[in-house]
Amino acid sequence: MTDSYDYDLFVIGAGSGGVRAARLTALGGKKVAIAEEYRVGGTCVIRGCVPKKFMVMASDFAHQFHTAEGYGWTVEASFDWPKFLQAKDVEIARLSGIYAANLGKAGVDLVNGRAVFKDAHTVEVTHRDGTGETRTITAEKILIATGGRPWMPEGLEGIEHCISSEEAFHLPELPKRIMIAGGGYIAVEFAGIFAGLGVETTLIYRGPNILRGFDDDVRAHLAGEIEKRGIKVILGCQHQKIEKTETGLVSHLENGMVLEHDVIMFATGRVPHVKDLGLEKAGVSLNDKGAIEVDTLSKTSADNIWAIGDVTDRMNLTPVAIREAVAFHETVYRNNPSHFDYEAVATAVFSQPPVGVVGLSESEARHTCSAGVDVYVTRFRPMKYAFTGSDERVLMKLVVDAASQKVVGVHIVGPEAPEMIQLAAIAVKAGLTKAQWDATCAVHPTMAEELVTLKEKQSQDTSAG
Ligand code: FAD
Repeated sequence: MTDSYDYDLFVIGAGSGGVRAARLTALGGKKVAIAEEYRVGGTCVIRGCVPKKFMVMASDFAHQFHTAEGYGWTVEASFDWPKFLQAKDVEIARLSGIYAANLGKAGVDLVNGRAVFKDAHTVEVTHRDGTGETRTITAEKILIATGGRPWMPEGLEGIEHCISSEEAFHLPELPKRIMIAGGGYIAVEFAGIFAGLGVETTLIYRGPNILRGFDDDVRAHLAGEIEKRGIKVILGCQHQKIEKTETGLVSHLENGMVLEHDVIMFATGRVPHVKDLGLEKAGVSLNDKGAIEVDTLSKTSADNIWAIGDVTDRMNLTPVAIREAVAFHETVYRNNPSHFDYEAVATAVFSQPPVGVVGLSESEARHTCSAGVDVYVTRFRPMKYAFTGSDERVLMKLVVDAASQKVVGVHIVGPEAPEMIQLAAIAVKAGLTKAQWDATCAVHPTMAEELVTLKEKQSQDTSAG
């Protein structure tokens, strides 16, 4: 560091990416500070993956109780929302505390407040206590890791009465009726959460089916399964306006339907968190999607500024933000230019039932694999539901490049799909062939054994494109 700067590295945003980059760099002997305007841990820990998963688990008990009755149990259950919220918030506070403590142990200075650029080497941090107290800090290098924030259709009449996922984590009471607008993974997950907790749940999405971008079989299968769990799904339609009445929130839909709910949640996407960050003063450009423009090594248009995580809108997942942080550290501080490999990243949707996916969808593979694809699909009732009368079905699908016989896509909808896909991802990432999958002996009796016993090709398409 030249003596003229307060820090070697200043990180804006103490979320998944920012915390990892700050810690690694400080542990490597550099002088590092990190600014956080809300709570250390960022979206994942405070209002994303972690509290969401707790809510999914809380909600899934209802289904387990029903299954248990089929096995001879008598279950008298009731749910206490405030008690759950309190337990969840205690755990979130504990995790946030661990993140803050680990920053301290690594020697990172934590600055509580909102940082904005004054120039490429200077930020001004306004303390978040509302006093307006500010600090000016200089740094040789700056890393932007400010994440994303929910997008709501601001022009929609009545949108001010609606909530986003951020408020859904703290509703003072569990509503009787909720409408969730959106078809992405957050919308589908929250629909499952509320339906499981006994809330009359409607999911409305303007597109032809939920989970755009996922394999079409997964989309169709999950839409059917969540309806079996009692979620009312309205597709190809959106709000015209929302009206607050004495009894609730009334949705006027494009198709003429008028529906009343107690809460309306919009999960209609997220945008990079760049508003009022002063990027223009630092010479940092945005791309046409409004995300910070970076090269493959996460460097922005300014020579001393990098950006990682959701604010760059490359692949908006916690493990990806963390890997981008590691690559940034290797590149900038260890003289080892590195970038994250975005291929075959496994993802999960914690819907009920959940989804696990890695690699290409069938339609992506048909565009990519010049000799066509072999597709293997199975749908079956999980053994666990044998006694329950449930007609829930598991979907498992393998997409195989016909020429190389490599398994290029795995798609699972069913119990424990997120756990299964983590392991399947190793095989896909390693480029194993269908024959190698088949040579792997089954674990019996499991659902996962179907993945190594799929024999019948569903179709063979040799026309690429
Ligand atoms: P973030 O974690 O968003 O951190 C950015 C931080 O910067 C925030 O703490 C913010 O307060 C702070 N900040 C912003 N601007 C400033 C400023 N000017 N000054 C100071 N601080 C600032 N991903 C998964 O992998 N699995 C999941 O199951 C999953 N579920 C999700 C569920 C929900 C409801 C949401 C919203 C997201 C979920 N994600 C999930 C996505 C995941 O949370 C993000 O990809 C991840 O948190 C991105 O990390 P990040 O470091 O880029 O940003």
